[in-house]
Amino acid sequence: MTAARSILHADLDAFFASVEQRDDPSLRGRPVAVGPGVVMAASYEARQRGVRSGMGVAGARRRCPGLVVVPSRFGAYLEASRRVFAVLDAIAPDVEPLSVDEAFLDVTGLERICGTPEAIAHRLRAAVREQVGLPISVGGGSTTQIAKLASGAAKPDGVRVVAPGTELAFLHPLPVERIWGCGPATAAKLRASGIATVAQIATIPEPALARIVGKAAARSLAAIAWNQEGRPLRPGRGRRSFGTQSAVRIAAGATERLDAQAIALTERVTRRMRSAGREGRTVVLRLRFEDYTRLSRAVTLPRPTAATAAVLAAFRGLLAAARDLTERRDLTLVGIAVTNLVAATPRQLELPFDEGAGAALDAVVDAVRDRFGAGALRRATLLGGEPGLSAWSLADADNDEIGNARDLRAAGARRGQVTGGLGDRAP
Ligand SMILES: [Mg+2]
Repeated sequence: MTAARSILHADLDAFFASVEQRDDPSLRGRPVAVGPGVVMAASYEARQRGVRSGMGVAGARRRCPGLVVVPSRFGAYLEASRRVFAVLDAIAPDVEPLSVDEAFLDVTGLERICGTPEAIAHRLRAAVREQVGLPISVGGGSTTQIAKLASGAAKPDGVRVVAPGTELAFLHPLPVERIWGCGPATAAKLRASGIATVAQIATIPEPALARIVGKAAARSLAAIAWNQEGRPLRPGRGRRSFGTQSAVRIAAGATERLDAQAIALTERVTRRMRSAGREGRTVVLRLRFEDYTRLSRAVTLPRPTAATAAVLAAFRGLLAAARDLTERRDLTLVGIAVTNLVAATPRQLELPFDEGAGAALDAVVDAVRDRFGAGALRRATLLGGEPGLSAWSLADADNDEIGNARDLRAAGARRGQVTGGLGDRAP
């Protein structure tokens, strides 16, 4: 292994539900689920009674009578996330966000100035509690894998730092499902072969492991089981959302026009995500009406994606849910953001075939556009008969709400430019 490193993993506890309990004291100590429809987050009181994210609200209520279901307020969560990351950025020079509510911090070499990793972890928690009012758990260790698992062990509202030299004693008793990057399909294959713990992964010869889970997964799992996974942090991947919007007037009830806009915005945003190697789980719709009222709605997908079809389906669902408004009022702005980002890494051990096929198509479309320009390929829906299209200007709205300071500076430098792409068609 290379020189010992100190990594912290900070993870907000029951993030969305904690924001609701912070902002409404009557919810504190009670089982709270953020909905509506599907549970997007559950407070620890609700989790203790079997409520899990992804459950239908009706089923959650059956399990947990007295469950308080509140509508999601994505704006409040993004604002809280931004403030938490401001705290993290002030604590360590290298912060790698994993999503809106968790991040790695590299605190290697900070000991003399800032104290032990454990002392830094306690200070981080106190600062987030004081400045943002939210509980956050912190794990620490010599690799990202150990730090991530340790924060899980620290939850809720705690600290767990795995001391150098004790990593294997911490790792080996854990069930295979706990390994970060070991998805359900890989875990099922391991279980079916009688491998239930990390210790068993560590002792089985790698060729035998490869026959069970495949070569790449075997190499990665073996490295994890011996704590030899020394990937560096990627602080440069500091972006926490991808967004774009279009300030274009769309008359009330012009459903086809609105859908054409949805397609164009989605293609633009997913293409940028793919070229940055990122995937996201939460799709956000933003609308502004002619009377300057605004609407923001979000949906969280079962798994992260950068596939145009999956993001477009979610975006269309949000638009359909807002139809009572878009049919009665003229729109002056439509925007999309994809957040809850993760790196699109080989950690995604399972890809269903249909999603793979969509990704292949997206890759071909991206390649053609990279080579010949954004106008080289267009969806048939975007061609002809739409006089408004040539006047489109897609103002870049990267991260203006939830990026960190670095991103905000970059976005500021870009702002004001009217980007080409879909707006460059001759009238
Ligand atoms: Mg969390």
